[in-house]
Amino acid sequence: MLTVNEAVHLILEQIGPLNCEKASLFDAHGRTIGENVRARWDVPRFTNSAMDGFAVRWQDVASCRPDKPVSLDVVDEVAAGYVSKKAVSSGKAIKIMTGAPVPKGGDTIIRVEHTASRGKQVEIQKNDGQGGHIRRAGEDIARGQLIIEKGKLLGPAEIGLLASVGRSKVQVRRRPVVAIISTGDELVAVDQKPGPGKIVNSNSYTLSCAVQQIGGIPQPLGIVRDRRSSLSKVFEKALNADVVIVSGGVSVGDYDFVKEALGDVGVKMGFWRVAQRPGHPMAFGRIRRKPVFGLPGNPVSSTVSFFLYARPALLKMMGHRKVFLPVVRARLEHDIKTALGLKEFVRCFLRKKNGEYLASSTGTQSSGVLRSLSLADGLIVSDEQQTLLRRGGEAPVILLKTEEISLQEEIGF
Ligand code: AMP
Ligand code: MG
Repeated sequence: MLTVNEAVHLILEQIGPLNCEKASLFDAHGRTIGENVRARWDVPRFTNSAMDGFAVRWQDVASCRPDKPVSLDVVDEVAAGYVSKKAVSSGKAIKIMTGAPVPKGGDTIIRVEHTASRGKQVEIQKNDGQGGHIRRAGEDIARGQLIIEKGKLLGPAEIGLLASVGRSKVQVRRRPVVAIISTGDELVAVDQKPGPGKIVNSNSYTLSCAVQQIGGIPQPLGIVRDRRSSLSKVFEKALNADVVIVSGGVSVGDYDFVKEALGDVGVKMGFWRVAQRPGHPMAFGRIRRKPVFGLPGNPVSSTVSFFLYARPALLKMMGHRKVFLPVVRARLEHDIKTALGLKEFVRCFLRKKNGEYLASSTGTQSSGVLRSLSLADGLIVSDEQQTLLRRGGEAPVILLKTEEISLQEEIGF
C-alpha cells in the first residue's frame, strides 16, 4: 500500500497547469498570472509633492531657522490633480498640496507645519533639507520595468499595482471546473426528509465549498445510486469538467462500484488505497490529462483526503507554487494512540502559550463525525512507525483555520 507521501507525489507529478485566460482585475484576484507585466509608465508618473506645503528653491531657504525665518512671495497655489502654469523663481514660493506636480523651478518642499502665512507672503521657519518631500517621477517604478513576474499569485497589492499602471485585464490561469458526485443508495438531497435508512448528502456541499475556497469552480452533479451503469453514465458527463471528484463507493463493500465504473469510461486507475486514517480507501486515476479522485464516503475522510490530495492538485493546476496547507510544530497536551503502519490525521485544537503551539484532540476521531472537523483548528500528523504520540512531545500539525489561531497577545492588539 502507498504511503501518504508517495500518494501525494504520485498525484502531483501527473498534474500540469491549466491554460490561461484574460480576466478583469476583480476576477484575477487570488489567481496566478500567466504573463510578465512591465510598467507602461513611470510610477509616480510625474515629480510631485509628498506633503502639503510650499514648493521653493533650495537656495532661498537653505539658511532659514526658527529665529531667522525667510519670507517668500506666494505666486500660485496648486492642488492634487492640477498643474501650475507658474514657475518658482528666486524669492517666490507656490503653495502645493500632497500629490500635486512640483512646479517648474521648485526643487524643495517645505511642509506647511514649518511655515506661517502672512498675507501674500509665507514665512519659512524650517526646512527638511535640499529636495525634501519630493517624490521623483519613476522613483518607485521606471517605465518598462518588470513589475509582476509570470506565475505570481495576485493578491490585493498585486491587483492594485496592475491598476496603477493601467492594466485592467491580465492573463491568468483558468479556474478548474470540478465535477462533484456523491454516490450511495442511502443518500437523499438536503431538502428531502431522510426516510428509514437514509441520510442527507453532505459531501457534495463540503467538497464544493472546499473547491470554491481555493478558487475552483464546483459543478455538483448530485447523488448517484450504487449501480455500475448509473455511475458510468454520470462519469461520462463528469468528464466534461477539468477534474472529477467522486465520494463514496471506493471501498471493498459489495456495492462499491466506483472503481469499475470509472474503468468503464476509460479512467486509468493509479491507486485506490493509502496507508492513512481517516481516508484509507482513496482512489486516484486519470483520463487524458484529467485527474479523477475517488474519495471515501465518510464525511471526515473525504474532506481530509480532499485537503491532502485534491487541494494541492487543484492549486497546481491553477499555477500556484505553494500548494500545501501550512504546517506548524506543536507540543501535545495529552497522549494520543495511533495505528502502526498508518499515517493518522488527528483533528485537534491549537492554542498558543509562551510562543509555542499546544495541540489537543477534539475528542472522538470517528471518521463520520463532521463536527470534529468543524471544531478543529488543525490535524496532528502521526508517523507511520509510531503507536503513541506522547504528551509533552512535538508533532507536526496541518493548519486548517489559520485565521482562528490568534496571535493577538503577541502583538498587543
Ligand atoms: P462508502 O465510502 O460509500 O462506504 O461510505 C462510507 C460512509 O459514508 C457511509 O456511512 C455513508 O453513509 C457515508 N456517506 C457516503 N456518502 C456520503 C455523502 N455524500 N454525505 C454524507 N455521508 C456519506
Ligand atoms: Mg457507499
